[in-house]
Amino acid sequence: MFAAGAIAEEDKLDRAETGRVLRRSLQFAQPYRRTIWWAIALVCLSTMCTLAGPVLVKFGLDHGIGSGSARALNVAVAGYVVVVIVAYFVGRSQYLAINRAGEGFLRDLRVTVFDKLQAQSMAYFDRNKAGVLVSRMTADIESMGELIQWGLLQFVGAGLLLVMTLILMTAMSWQLTLMVVLFVAPVLGVASIRFQRQSNAAYLDVRERVGTNLSNLQEGITGVRVIQAYGRETEQERRFVVTNRALYRSHLHSVKISTWYFGLVEWSGIMSIALIVGVGGFLVHHGSVKFGTVAAFVLLLANLFDPVQQLSQLYNTVQSAAASLHKLYALMDAEPDVAEHPRPVQLPLEGELVAHAVTFAYDGTERPALHDVSLGVKPGERVALVGPTGAGKSTLAKLLSRLYDPTSGYVSYGDVDVRLASLASLRERVVVVPQEGFLFGGTIMDNIRIARPAATDNDVAAALVAIGALERFQEFPEGLDTEVRERGSRLSAGERQLVSLARAALVDPAVLVLDEATSNLDPGTEAVVEQALERLMTGRSVIVVAHRLSTVQRADRIAVIDHARLVEIGTHDELMALGGKYHALASAWARSQPVVDPSAGR
Ligand code: ATP
Repeated sequence: MFAAGAIAEEDKLDRAETGRVLRRSLQFAQPYRRTIWWAIALVCLSTMCTLAGPVLVKFGLDHGIGSGSARALNVAVAGYVVVVIVAYFVGRSQYLAINRAGEGFLRDLRVTVFDKLQAQSMAYFDRNKAGVLVSRMTADIESMGELIQWGLLQFVGAGLLLVMTLILMTAMSWQLTLMVVLFVAPVLGVASIRFQRQSNAAYLDVRERVGTNLSNLQEGITGVRVIQAYGRETEQERRFVVTNRALYRSHLHSVKISTWYFGLVEWSGIMSIALIVGVGGFLVHHGSVKFGTVAAFVLLLANLFDPVQQLSQLYNTVQSAAASLHKLYALMDAEPDVAEHPRPVQLPLEGELVAHAVTFAYDGTERPALHDVSLGVKPGERVALVGPTGAGKSTLAKLLSRLYDPTSGYVSYGDVDVRLASLASLRERVVVVPQEGFLFGGTIMDNIRIARPAATDNDVAAALVAIGALERFQEFPEGLDTEVRERGSRLSAGERQLVSLARAALVDPAVLVLDEATSNLDPGTEAVVEQALERLMTGRSVIVVAHRLSTVQRADRIAVIDHARLVEIGTHDELMALGGKYHALASAWARSQPVVDPSAGR
């Protein structure tokens, strides 16, 4: 059976690419080269022990039993015991050494890949699904581990054993060796080439089926609420049964390939023994070889067939690891789209945040999500972004906070192009408060402190006081030390929003970019959150993607975004007087009816 991982097509690397990928890994293995060399030395020693067994048997038979020398027999037996003991300790040390190097390598690799992922910008996560990235960190790194821990050892060990066995056999009797080679080489040569081709195809097929089955499984679990809500369990089950059956067949097919090949290798082994015993017996009879040589040959034959089996399996391990490495390296080589300038400048403490004719299209989309938009937000000013769904409001907010860089045009703060600014100073000046702040495992205190890890307990409490939410959390039995549990399931929706606002208050930025929550809270909680928000916004520049009339009316200016363009800008009264898009939108809000965009669907 073959190791399994993700998708197949991308797994097919050509020989040159495989070589390049493996060579690059050698550089990564540099810090462990001493341990690896030590493990290789131990493998060589262990091979010598394996070869010493048949040699000692030959010695014992020919010089001990054959010549009637008790001393020679004792030496052979004692030698054998020593070899077995040494082999045990060598095997153990070799196992420890290679695992130390392999696990260390994987530990470093995981950290490098994780760091790289954390540094990526939003566009990267638009392009790559979280599930695929997680499989890079798990299945791909695991398949790498298999190569490092077993592949390398097997390659050295099996290769050395094969060569040394042939040399030893030739030294004992070239006639018998020639006979074994003439019989075994054509059978195993042809079979191994066929096996490699078939098993590679079967292996890729298994990986593809595992990928499909996994994604089906994942959808079934994450989408279980929708599935149950619409009573679609049976369809879901049927879909899963189909992909699961395909996986079962694919596994069975791969097993069949393995069985014919390994069966043939075993058959060749047994036939070779029969051949050696028959022909060897004949030669012993004629006095051209000794009895001990034939016995040693029978034992040595195992050393010939085991490595062949191991080396043919190794091919799949190398293929799989090279494919995994290829994907990991692609991830490591990805440069963040939003990168820090090599010589970044500090942003001024205060200034106007301005979008200068920005145009932006998401990766893989042709139509810009924002087209030629210019907008300035003065210190202390509140600007509300309104417009129909999908118009580009959130996109403008993301550009203003440099979660993405515009395709053309630029954003400046205090007359400094934000692309020249240090990311740290930018994140201190401009803070984005998402609709639903993600909560990490840990306490409420930990979750707020994420915004500024150096903050003291008092700073966190002060941030909560600033938004008027300290008492709310102090009422909890363990106060701010209450565990939020997975994704904040211990907290209500309103409390989660308060944590999110407290994070922003802790940074104390000059500019706040808010995506107003669309989900409704109960009126009591809503009032608490509203109050906290109002306190947070006081004295700062605010850009808010607004969904409520009350928020819009409190803004100094309102920017109407429609079909990726800024179509109207002004105060509530000005825009109402204009009688355009905003008028229609505000009237619809006032009637609490959904906004119908007359041009939608064009
Ligand atoms: P809403 O009020 O519904 O949140 P919005 O005005 O904020 O809408 P945006 O989120 O800015 O709209 O989206 C503008 C356009 O860009 C939409 O057509 C949307 O489908 C597209 N879009 C948004 N995010 C992405 C993304 N990550 N990748 C590709 N297209 C996107």
